[in-house]
Amino acid sequence: MSRILITSGPTRQYLDPVRYLTNASSGRMGSALSHAALELGHQVVVVSGPVEVAYPEAAKVISIVSTEELLQACEQIFPTCDGLIGAAAPCDYRPRRVELQKIAKTGEPLILRLIETPDVVATMGDIKQPHQWAVGFALETEDQRFRAITKLERKSCDLMVLNGPEAMNSFQNSVEVLDPSGSVVEAITGSKIDVARGILQIIQDRLIAVG
Ligand code: C5P
Repeated sequence: MSRILITSGPTRQYLDPVRYLTNASSGRMGSALSHAALELGHQVVVVSGPVEVAYPEAAKVISIVSTEELLQACEQIFPTCDGLIGAAAPCDYRPRRVELQKIAKTGEPLILRLIETPDVVATMGDIKQPHQWAVGFALETEDQRFRAITKLERKSCDLMVLNGPEAMNSFQNSVEVLDPSGSVVEAITGSKIDVARGILQIIQDRLIAVG
């Protein structure tokens, strides 16, 4: 039995007390991966952004809001886990300044200055111990395989799951699982639970069975 950390859902970056940047991630892929990992007898810890979706009762769920909170939770939990599946869609940018009061309209354009947030999977890839593994997701709209392999290398992942923008907020998914040699291990299409079961089987065969 392995202990698996799964990041899931979007993050929010507040501009002021009521407005935020986010994306349409539903957390459904993270929830499906949690079910599939539990079905194989693993322990699951989910770190999730704000979502409507339910996670399995048997999973331990930690709720976060921002990408910085996601990173902080993962830095604490990953060292106690055997592997990480990064299925979250964290905001890549945050406002440089968060206003304490609601930003009032002035009739003029509002210029926002955004700075990059930390990359959680890349940070976990950097602290990953030899017995640990990491699987990332790449949502690409062009040069899909090339970009996904580049991310696999940059984020020190053992596998990268490539999907397209149709995956966002959908019940279905169509993915290619890529390995560090750049080969397509498997292409899987179906409901998110079918896709999750396929991904977990590859993790089981390639990363857990050999560990
Ligand atoms: O956004 P990007 O396509 O680079 O995301 C690829 C992988 O990196 C995904 O697994 C995603 O969960 C992760 N990621 C992250 N922290 C970020 C951005 C992406 O963990 N700030």
